Amino acid sequence: MAAPLPHAVHNPDFQKRQLPNELVQAIEVWKDKIPFLKNEKQRELWLKCIRNYIFIDTNHDGVADWTALVDGRPSRILFPNKPNINGDGIPNVLDPNPYVAHKVTQTSGIPEHLKIGGKAGVWQEKLWLDYKVMAVNHTDKHFADELETIYSVFKLDPIRKWKKRDQIFNVIYAFRSHFPKAEAAAFHPTAQAMSLAGKAGYENTELNEKQKCKLVATVLHELGHAFLIENISSQELKDAATKLVGWDFPSWLPTSSIWNPTFFESYSGHQNSFVSNYAKSNAHEWFAETFAARIWEKESLDKQYCPMFPGGAISLGTQGWIDSLIAASE
Ligand SMILES: [Zn+2]
Repeated sequence: MAAPLPHAVHNPDFQKRQLPNELVQAIEVWKDKIPFLKNEKQRELWLKCIRNYIFIDTNHDGVADWTALVDGRPSRILFPNKPNINGDGIPNVLDPNPYVAHKVTQTSGIPEHLKIGGKAGVWQEKLWLDYKVMAVNHTDKHFADELETIYSVFKLDPIRKWKKRDQIFNVIYAFRSHFPKAEAAAFHPTAQAMSLAGKAGYENTELNEKQKCKLVATVLHELGHAFLIENISSQELKDAATKLVGWDFPSWLPTSSIWNPTFFESYSGHQNSFVSNYAKSNAHEWFAETFAARIWEKESLDKQYCPMFPGGAISLGTQGWIDSLIAASE
């Protein structure tokens, strides 16, 4: 979020305090996978540093202001741990000054500091008013054709109904590091956000049919990640992937958390019931791809955009599973 680092609190008591349980567990499962945790000296330094921040609780409500656990992993970037860190009732993202208490009158429209002008602004407003999704220019800029295409995804029946119930997915950032031809987008669970390419990622701002098709598939895929986190337990993910595509999880896999590193390991077996090659990357990607493919089929998006997922690639069992999840989310 490019916020300045909060003032470190040099409280000797912070260095002795018990770390939050979730963080202890995450360090335990990730310590062999993340370089700064692997090295004991670096790990100690990191802990010493984050201890100056992760116990700060400005408004004394028992919830720390900052966390070093981001998207289920120990992180070197602190993330605001409260959706409204200064306690003024306005969510951090919508607040022009999220870290300092100040008087603001909240309006139902787009806050001044986030307003995008021109035609893109019209779609920004529609996304916000109709679906409570805020398009935010970050390091890149949203544009009209792109936002209109994204709007068409939220308009799809299953997405609209699910989004109405769950507020997990709220922000769409335009990031400069994304290019539609390569890594098109990312989902950021802790931030309840997705990031996509903006103007800088495309040659021009009139999207052709192929680009629209790819963008719709990408947004559906990222929504699949959000859907998984909101609606599926780690046990259910493990069972479904094992049963439906023969995923080769180790039998000892503890299923207490969807963030377990095993859920981020690629499939190494020889089954070929995957909807795409990318779906073999890890169980999260398998679900996101499968979810996107099922919505594509259900909503006949082939006709509206272009064929994206090979027809019939999802087994009947998988279709039934996704359909029942969608029905339960409405
Ligand atoms: Zn993904």
